[in-house]
Amino acid sequence: MKRDEMLARLRSRDQPWDMVIIGGGATGVGIAVDGATRGLDVLLLEREDFGKATSSRSTKLVHGGVRYLEQGNISLVMEALKERGLLRQNAPHLVHDLAFVVPNYSWWETPFYGIGMKIYDLLAGQYGFGRSRILSLAETLEKLPNLQQDGLRGGVVYYDGQFDDSRLLIHLAQTAVDHGATLVNYAPAVELTKDEAGYLSGVIVEDTESGERFAVQAKVVVNAAGIFADSIRKMADAEAKKMIAPSQGIHLVFEGSFLRANAAIMVPHTSDGRVLFAIPWHGHTVVGTTDTEIDGPSYDPLPFEEEIQFVLDTAGQYLSRPPKRSDVLSVYVGIRPLVKAAGGGKGSTSALSRDHTIHVDQSGLLTIVGGKWTTYRHMAEDCVNHAITLGKLNDTDCVTKHLKIHGYLEGVDELDSFSVYGSDIGAIRAIAATDPKLGETLHPALPYIGAEVVWAVREEMARTLDDVLSRRLRALFLNAKAASEMAPAVAAIMAAELGLGQQWIDGEVARFQEFAKKYQVS
Ligand SMILES: Cc1cc2nc3c(=O)[nH]c(=O)nc-3n(C[C@H](O)[C@H](O)[C@H](O)COP(=O)(O)OP(=O)(O)OC[C@H]3O[C@@H](n4cnc5c(N)ncnc54)[C@H](O)[C@@H]3O)c2cc1C
Repeated sequence: MKRDEMLARLRSRDQPWDMVIIGGGATGVGIAVDGATRGLDVLLLEREDFGKATSSRSTKLVHGGVRYLEQGNISLVMEALKERGLLRQNAPHLVHDLAFVVPNYSWWETPFYGIGMKIYDLLAGQYGFGRSRILSLAETLEKLPNLQQDGLRGGVVYYDGQFDDSRLLIHLAQTAVDHGATLVNYAPAVELTKDEAGYLSGVIVEDTESGERFAVQAKVVVNAAGIFADSIRKMADAEAKKMIAPSQGIHLVFEGSFLRANAAIMVPHTSDGRVLFAIPWHGHTVVGTTDTEIDGPSYDPLPFEEEIQFVLDTAGQYLSRPPKRSDVLSVYVGIRPLVKAAGGGKGSTSALSRDHTIHVDQSGLLTIVGGKWTTYRHMAEDCVNHAITLGKLNDTDCVTKHLKIHGYLEGVDELDSFSVYGSDIGAIRAIAATDPKLGETLHPALPYIGAEVVWAVREEMARTLDDVLSRRLRALFLNAKAASEMAPAVAAIMAAELGLGQQWIDGEVARFQEFAKKYQVS
């Protein structure tokens, strides 16, 4: 995946693309994979970096959604459970099973959640993971030795999937490129063009790095801009009403020793009725998430003080060693692109639809919003089916149900930090072998080595320190201070790859270190 090659394709094409997709998150990249594997000519434009907005900031669960089961949304749960199974089948290097324990402190919780989880198993049908069961007190503590023991009666264990969101996104982008799609980051759609009849005919795109603008023609324009989808709708129709009700969620990241287990805690009802998870992820403990209605979208949302306190307090109720503010290694915030309730009324965002919505406006702009990471494949299938009709494109069947995702490798050791690369591991080790320095870890608190930085620049279109440290490696999400400290070494490796000098290194390090402060809790 090389940006220069992608731009060259963009520049040289004078025919209309079958589909131009605006937005390089899970939704847009999923659509690119679906379209390309059906033989369509696909161009995807991403304003910033792939996954810069919501798709790198999830709870990292590939799940049916126990909360939606409680809300009685059976079809959403069944669809998500099926997609969970397909995703583990197609990307075993990036998705794995995880045991979730619902700790029970009241007599009624064990039968209640025991039955609920059996229904969850049942709805998964042939796509089931491990079977849920009721745990004795001793079994609960065996799975989660650091659980708060006061009043603990036992628990219920069930199984769901866990993944690395931005790594999966990059592998999906590579899959799309492997099948002929063209994907460009740092290439915002700045305008939509129309024909005399008022139908969309294409997109004006800017290469942010050079300032160069291109007019690309499209048979169908897909708006997959997530929380920014309304701004694209306004480009097509200045009167377009808002579809998105943004809702923010935060996660706090701590040392792995807080959980000290290879199982997660699932709290089905926090003090304000939400679901909270504490999960092991890349050797750390991630606790979240909240659900707070906010006014509008942003690339760098900040946590609210009440959210930080809420997560700390709730984690403290369930962990034998309650985490303190000073234990927070990173705080990351994501915004859900929830679809507004009918009538657009205000209300709790946690009750708004998690289903996806497809909308076609009078100019032919096809907007797809909502859904969740887990269901990206199904969303893409639905979207491309609509695009085929709308653009009179070659009508072929979707093939992604059994499509192996780039790097597909079975039997990886998920505790090995290299496992996320799947079948590309050998190529990264080969880079490390060319120079002993590239085999050294970049920071004592994190497992990353220089060869991964080279790989990210050479093969994964990483352009900035943020691209590398936040989404190719997960350093900023795991330990913001360590990410800041390793920035100069990473920038030096990047500059050598990109042919850039000291001035770029200095500017980039200063910018990143300022940015990384937003992930630290003072
Ligand atoms: C806190 C939180 C936790 C979550 N946890 C889970 C979970 O555990 N499991 C799960 O399944 N789902 C989860 N989700 C949901 C999931 O993360 C989202 O549904 C999904 O990432 C949305 O992807 P998207 O592609 O629609 O949006 P985004 O990832 O936001 O992508 C939209 C892209 O459009 C780009 N864009 C905007 N304007 C332009 C333009 N003019 N030109 C070009 N590009 C443009 C943006 O830069 C952005 O990259 C969670 C969400 C949140 C907020």
